[in-house]
Amino acid sequence: MLNNYLLYLGFITNKIQKYFDEQKDYIKCSKGCAKCCEHAQFPYSEIEFKLIFEGLKSLEPEEHKTVVDNINQIIKDRAEFLKSPSKEPFRYKCPFLINNECSVYYYRGLVCRTFGLMTFIPDSPKTPRIPFCAYEGLNFSEVLDKKQNNISDEKFSQLGYKEEPKAYNIDYSTLINEEIANGFGFRFGNIKPLIEWFIKDNN
Ligand code: SF4
Ligand code: SF4
Repeated sequence: MLNNYLLYLGFITNKIQKYFDEQKDYIKCSKGCAKCCEHAQFPYSEIEFKLIFEGLKSLEPEEHKTVVDNINQIIKDRAEFLKSPSKEPFRYKCPFLINNECSVYYYRGLVCRTFGLMTFIPDSPKTPRIPFCAYEGLNFSEVLDKKQNNISDEKFSQLGYKEEPKAYNIDYSTLINEEIANGFGFRFGNIKPLIEWFIKDNN
C-alpha cells in the first residue's frame, strides 16, 4: 500500500511544485526558514504517518535520538496543556525539525508540501487561505492587504509581475480525497495531529 501512496505522492508533488514555480515571484521560502514547522497541529493520515515513520527509522543514531527526545517532550507538554481547559488546540514545534531543517524531507506529509502557497477549499474558491507568514513579511507579503485580510489587486498591478497571485485547490481536505486514493490503490485512513500518532493509547 505504501508503494501506491508513493506513486500518488510523486503525482501530487509534481503538481504542487508546478504551482510553486508559477508563484515564484511571491515565494520567500529559503534554507533556514522553518516558521511553518514551528507552531501548528500538523494533520497526518495513517498512510502519511507510516511514511514519516520510515523516515524516522532511516535517521542516523544521533538525529534519531534528537527526534525521539523531541517527541517525548512534546507528549509531556501536550499532557500538561490538556490539564487546563482550552478552546485552542495544542500546537507544537514539529519533532522532526532539527536546526531549522526538516530531518525527513523526503518522507514529509502532504500538508508540509503545501506550506507557503495560497490554497482554497472547493466550496469557497473565492476565499483564499493566505499563509500566516505573509503577515510576517514573507510569502505573498508584497500583495497582502493586512487591513482587509486579503490579496490586493492594486498592489499586484503596481508590482508589474506577470503571474497574478493565485490560490490552488490543494487544501489538505482536497489532498486526502479517498476516491483519488482508491484510484491509486491505497487508503489514507484515520487523520490526527502528527504527535498523536506517537501516543500509544491513542492508536
Ligand atoms: S515533517 Fe518536516 S516539513 Fe513537515 S512540519 Fe515537520 S519539519 Fe516541517
Ligand atoms: S512557507 Fe513561509 S515560513 Fe515556511 S519556509 Fe516558506 S517563507 Fe518560511
